Amino acid sequence: MIFSIADKLENVRERIQKATISAKRLPGSVQLLAVSKTRSAEELLQTMQHGVLAFGENYVNEALEKQRALKQMCHEKGLADLYQQLVWHFIGPVQANKTRAIAEHFDWVHGIDRSKIITRLSAQRPTTLGPLNCCIQVNIDAEETKSGVSLEAIDTLAEEVNAQAGLNLRGLMCIPAAHSSDDELAQTFKTMLAAYDHLKSRYPSVDTLSMGMSGDLEIAISNGSTLVRIGTALFGERSTS
Ligand SMILES: *Cc1c(COP(=O)(O)O)cnc(C)c1O
Repeated sequence: MIFSIADKLENVRERIQKATISAKRLPGSVQLLAVSKTRSAEELLQTMQHGVLAFGENYVNEALEKQRALKQMCHEKGLADLYQQLVWHFIGPVQANKTRAIAEHFDWVHGIDRSKIITRLSAQRPTTLGPLNCCIQVNIDAEETKSGVSLEAIDTLAEEVNAQAGLNLRGLMCIPAAHSSDDELAQTFKTMLAAYDHLKSRYPSVDTLSMGMSGDLEIAISNGSTLVRIGTALFGERSTS
């Protein structure tokens, strides 16, 4: 059977709602971020017409092209106001030579992991847009190939982000090791929650724990996630990463 984006979206929203209720958390306390890497502007248009206004992209050039195409489509369909409401999250690894484009075309960055990109993103953020919302990425399973910092390094980076006028420290993000068992995932998410609670107690601007994807959103929500990043469950399998 072929399910439309609307059907898949309803299913994802139900999963989030059920997990939120069984965790005895407030309805609406977990935000859905639609991960739209590799997806067409047409697919994003359909998604936004069903009320999803937050999109996560991993590749700068792809994202900028898509933003242009989507903006054009929205103008043609009388949806220019809705386009203005979109919130763009950059969730991929941040390359230093891409910080200007990110600072100018995104509202959030989830992959903050070193001083160099902190100073660049802040300096390059247009003041007219207000501060760029930042999550520090934690390499929670200490994987060699993955971006992010160790738990021990969070405080130092948080101080650096907090000191920048162009940035707003919002929280933490993680991508657990692939093929983790449910128990391992739960443990990972609990460790993230403890680090998040600690950070939140020190910085009033912190309100976002970005964890949970298509396969593990329930475990993430039962362990305190406030934002789940969902690609496959909304749009189907990706042909490329
Ligand atoms: C691709 C991606 C996702 C979405 O993963 P799915 O399993 O397709 O839901 C979430 N977060 C990041 C950082 C990603 O790169």
